Amino acid sequence: MKYLKLTKKNGIATLTFDRPDSSANIFNEPVLIECRTVLQQIETDESIEALMICSAKPKIFIAGADIPSLSSATPGELAALIDLGHEVFSQLEALNIPTAAAIHGACVGGGYELALACDWRVASNAKVTKIGLPETQLGILPAWGGSTRLPQLITLPKALPLILAGKTLSAAAAKRKGMVDAVVHPAHIQMMALQYLEKGKRNKETHHIIHSTASVKVIEAAARKDLMKRTRGLYPAPLKALEVICQAVTQPPEIGFRLERDAIIKLTSDSVTSHLIDLFLLNERAKKLKIEDTQAQDLQAPVVIGSGIMGSGIGYWLSSRGYPVLLQDINDDALAKGVKRIQQHYQKAQSRHIMTAAEAQSGFDRLHASSQRLPLQNKDLIIEAAVEDLELKKRIFADLSQRCSPDCILATNTSALPIHELADVIQNPERMVGLHFFNPVHRMPLVEIVRAPTTSDATLASVLKFVQKIGKTPIIVKDSPGFLVNRILVPYLLEACKLFAAGGDSLEIDEAMLDFGMPMGPLRLLDEVGLDVGKHVAHTLVAAFPDRMSLPPMMDAMIENGFLGRKAGKGFYIYDKDEPEPNPEALALRENDHLQLNSVAEQLAELMSSEAARCLDEHIASSPEDIDLAMVLGTGYAPFRGGPLRYADDLRLISPGFYQD
Ligand code: NAD
Repeated sequence: MKYLKLTKKNGIATLTFDRPDSSANIFNEPVLIECRTVLQQIETDESIEALMICSAKPKIFIAGADIPSLSSATPGELAALIDLGHEVFSQLEALNIPTAAAIHGACVGGGYELALACDWRVASNAKVTKIGLPETQLGILPAWGGSTRLPQLITLPKALPLILAGKTLSAAAAKRKGMVDAVVHPAHIQMMALQYLEKGKRNKETHHIIHSTASVKVIEAAARKDLMKRTRGLYPAPLKALEVICQAVTQPPEIGFRLERDAIIKLTSDSVTSHLIDLFLLNERAKKLKIEDTQAQDLQAPVVIGSGIMGSGIGYWLSSRGYPVLLQDINDDALAKGVKRIQQHYQKAQSRHIMTAAEAQSGFDRLHASSQRLPLQNKDLIIEAAVEDLELKKRIFADLSQRCSPDCILATNTSALPIHELADVIQNPERMVGLHFFNPVHRMPLVEIVRAPTTSDATLASVLKFVQKIGKTPIIVKDSPGFLVNRILVPYLLEACKLFAAGGDSLEIDEAMLDFGMPMGPLRLLDEVGLDVGKHVAHTLVAAFPDRMSLPPMMDAMIENGFLGRKAGKGFYIYDKDEPEPNPEALALRENDHLQLNSVAEQLAELMSSEAARCLDEHIASSPEDIDLAMVLGTGYAPFRGGPLRYADDLRLISPGFYQD
């Protein structure tokens, strides 16, 4: 056997998944066929009294289906693959011996569907153990029995939110939902699985949940309403999954399996699914990207300069990932506020069960905050996140360059300023680089790595590895005003502001972009960023591209009136109630109040697409896919559209050479 190992001891068979030459176990046709053969062997071996399933990989139980082969399959091939999975998992479920999955590491998608076909599920409490059915995030649905079996195991109301949102949970959270039977230390997982096997087969009669057709109708209607509110109906997969789950739950499993198969075939022919799968694969590629350089360093001792919004966000993230962090600010009050924010992040992580109390405490203890000029000789990475002011940053880097070791990497989190001008003021400018985190740092997965003309391969390789190690997705971009994401985002925000100034209704502008699929309207986003901060970043871009970008006078008027956004309580909206409402004083600043808005979303989206096309022409990123991925991860650009370039391609907005001036 190539992918599986079967061992026997004292009547207990252990089936171990161990895909050769790979850190992950996945399901594809050859693995399923091998699985079927082994199960046939187990069925006929009377000496086997129980079966335990586990993985030989340190971080992965089974990571689900092989996505590239799934997305490239013809409808006929896909139907055959889905049928094969159903056959194998049903064969496992039908064994007349007790079965248990001993789960350590990622157990998602098809991996969890295999576990669902077992009698018992025991999971390790390790951080690497993640359990769930994330298929809808890829535009598909759990189609190897997950949509049918999970509601039977934990009830329809509990299963629906998990499948419709494509959530993966920690072992403890999965246990609370009833998705696994026990959670233990990794060292005890097999022992605990054996204890469950001793209980014999799970009594399906007592565990099978009966759902009445009438109650299913009520639950389905409520779930559909909630889904439409959250997704505006833009994502077909959760809607289809809802339909399948609610039909399957009152029928025999074979009907559920057929519904799952028909639904996945329909969904994979949808362009939304191919966009979501492409983004998933691009993200995986970016997370594994390597630059080979013998001089690359394994960065261990970071310093963060500036403890404002970004510095504290970065400080929290790095300390929570196990790094000892020195956080510096010149201002004691600002430093105290930064430390408080970090402490609140840890408290929240703990209350949301993302960390245990001990993990939160040791993360916080890894942070050392000081406004003193401490020695930096033993540090290997300094990330500057002081205010966005080029002259100030030059002074900071000139000083740092004197105080740290000659090979300490110097990085800036600037949103738009030229990195090469900072490189000019330091010794050994090959170690200067941009590390542009996005706000809020703990939620935004993207980090733009900005390569200045002097940045060496060794520096680039070191920070690339560092960004991947801290669990962020890196995109390497060129040192150019606004880099990639802000370069594309800013003209869009300025245009929205101009539409407002010309008499557009704030709600109408924002609603149009929500309908387009953005997570937040542009005026709300400006309020969140802060109009003063937004203006600062926009200023750099306007200065660089005066032919097509300009600052709307409305922005100055808003700032002069103190309408800075959420932090001031007022911006385009007022923030004194649960739901922000349009700010009448801001509305009164407009030139008139009756601009008829037509095709706002198309107009604003086209602006982003055309700027993205210019970035491609200027090689700001190395590929159109990188640009699309960066916009989705950095701004939440409607993932189902695949990114601004994909959107343009789909609409045939851009013909070759169209944007060459
Ligand atoms: P902020 O105003 O919240 O914080 C800046 C901090 O820097 C303040 O606490 C200030 O006391 C400190 N500071 C000033 N001079 C200093 C010095 N010489 N040494 C040490 N500390 C000093 O700013 P922010 O929003 O956190 O932005 C920081 C940087 O990150 C800027 O370059 C900004 O453009 C960039 N950025 C901001 C965002 C965002 O959404 N806020 C997003 C991405 C990048």
